[in-house]
Amino acid sequence: MTEMFGTNGVRGKVNEDMDTELAMDLGKAIGTWVGKGNVVAIGTDTRISNYMLKNAVSSGLMSVGCDIIDLGEAPTPAIQYYTKQKADLGIAITASHNPPEFNGIKCIDEDGTELIKWMEEEIEEIYFSEDFEYVGWKEVGEMITDDPLRLYSESIEEKIDKESISEAGLKVVLDCANGAGCYVTPYLLRKLGCDVTTLNAQPDGSFPGHNSEPTEENLQDLIELTSSDEFDLGIAHDGDADRTIFIDENGGFIHGDKILTLVAKRLVKENGGGIVVTPVSSSSSVEDVVEENGGSLIYTAVGSPIVARKMKEVDAIFGGEENGGLIFADHQYCRDAAMTAAFVIEMIVDEGPLSELVDGLPDYSLEKKGVHCEEELKEALLEELKEVYSEEEIDDTDGLKIYYEEGWVLIRPSGTEPKYRIYAESPDKETTERLAEEHREKIEEVLDSIR
Ligand code: MG
Repeated sequence: MTEMFGTNGVRGKVNEDMDTELAMDLGKAIGTWVGKGNVVAIGTDTRISNYMLKNAVSSGLMSVGCDIIDLGEAPTPAIQYYTKQKADLGIAITASHNPPEFNGIKCIDEDGTELIKWMEEEIEEIYFSEDFEYVGWKEVGEMITDDPLRLYSESIEEKIDKESISEAGLKVVLDCANGAGCYVTPYLLRKLGCDVTTLNAQPDGSFPGHNSEPTEENLQDLIELTSSDEFDLGIAHDGDADRTIFIDENGGFIHGDKILTLVAKRLVKENGGGIVVTPVSSSSSVEDVVEENGGSLIYTAVGSPIVARKMKEVDAIFGGEENGGLIFADHQYCRDAAMTAAFVIEMIVDEGPLSELVDGLPDYSLEKKGVHCEEELKEALLEELKEVYSEEEIDDTDGLKIYYEEGWVLIRPSGTEPKYRIYAESPDKETTERLAEEHREKIEEVLDSIR
């Protein structure tokens, strides 16, 4: 059976692999899986193909007896928050940070978390077998509309200290990437008392400002503005506003792992301990600050749904990934971009300018490399590598993580490309580069031996 769901739902190029037939049949499969009579909340980011796909998925769902609440355009975490409060299942039509010609369909469980592998596999099985449970004409689903934005925004406001933010009068530049963040974050930050200047804050699925991935390269306008004396902070979301990236008051691009570490530190301190969850690919700085402040850290495989579920299971206070996807347990178990923006603003007002906070963190250097690897060799390569490094201290939570005196190396197959990814980290740039390069060479060598 072909695998439909990737790390973040089903994605593809519109009217090539992501078309109305697929969307409608997937709607039928999802509806058959959750069962007739259940209520499905469905929302989209700002892509041009959203209406086409939303209507097709909804038709499929109604044909098997599910009722629909159409949430319109909204950040993915707002759809997730709404689903947790008011529906039995959620669907987000989004391709997150992918180019505008892509779109995707992502399912959300009744608790607001993304579905995990075995659930998606059950839906796939129904999809491919076409075992759809159509209902009689009287039981066909209904459709109403509702607004998830206020619910989401107000629940964040309640968690943030508005008074101190208003007093500080922080001047913020916000780049919404013409995505779903346009609907919440500008208004929320203003309500919290920030002086907000926006960039790319009109919803537009052609992404005229820049591609919707918040990379340093794509955020040049934001960086330039923030580096002027006028502003204290730059904030950027990806296309569906579940991730947030920050620019410090000097225009410095702050890597996601720094924010992950800062927020983990603040929350563990506030709680006098607690569990933090993050994938094995995250910087050791997270573990350092969590343990220094009396908390404990649990590592998982890469992927935000995995992190979220583990957090629930172990009653963690916080979790997240180095790509700007942060999860606050006391709000909801999913990546939460507007919540992240609000929390970091509160932290800066309370603790000082972002550049200084980042300077106070443990300093590690990270290096990423890639090695081409045919899909059919991925498993064999991993087995071989486990043999090669069997003398070392290893962890196979996801791929292979090897711990050395001077740092660590993580080698894992890409979920989306014919590729192995290598991550190396140590306190020293030269050592990190050496570790990454040595392992890249070794992988090439092992690959040659099994090809
Ligand atoms: Mg996203």
